[in-house]
Amino acid sequence: MDLKDLVLASSNQGKIKELQHMLGGLGINIIPQQSLGIEDADETGLTFVENAILKARHAAEQSGLAAIADDSGLEVDYLKGAPGIYSARYAGLGANDQTNLDKLMSALKSVPAEQRKARYQTVIVVMRHGTDPTPIICQGTWEGEIAFQEKGHEGFGYDPIFKPLDADCHAAELDKSVKNTVSHRGKAIAQLLETLK
Ligand code: IMP
Repeated sequence: MDLKDLVLASSNQGKIKELQHMLGGLGINIIPQQSLGIEDADETGLTFVENAILKARHAAEQSGLAAIADDSGLEVDYLKGAPGIYSARYAGLGANDQTNLDKLMSALKSVPAEQRKARYQTVIVVMRHGTDPTPIICQGTWEGEIAFQEKGHEGFGYDPIFKPLDADCHAAELDKSVKNTVSHRGKAIAQLLETLK
């Protein structure tokens, strides 16, 4: 796929910088949708992949350019996959990282260690245009479990209570560069780079 410009369907400064850094090496220029006056799409899907497609399609339709979008979240087995696609707004209106995390801790209050399996998921979608029938879809998963206590101050979201299987600490205790190589997002981006190369 020959791409020069990609409109990013996000106004998250962290994501903008991360993608600019990762895709810049391939000669791809990331254009945040906000800089083109494009508003966020409604995330009405019921899966990560549906929401990522809705966001990428909206940005591609509005801009007339190729677009990239992602959707991520935390799946907890005991809660049948919740908070899932609602991870950012789990605690309801006005939710933030701490209220979301507190709600999850109380939902798992009396749940024993062996039933606390969880994983982060990321889906990244690239669409060449708004009616692209074969978008690129990349997925990354990071397996772990929900701890009984918060630890660490790095990262964001549920990281203080997420214990990855491949680390002997909480995600919020990992250095950013280490997290980026093992995380769901890191894996999905690596897959995307391979596909775009
Ligand atoms: P987004 O789709 O990347 O904006 O992520 C949605 C929500 O999922 C975030 O607001 C967090 O609650 C959660 N989440 C996704 N990725 C991570 C992560 O790497 N660490 C902690 N929380 C995450």
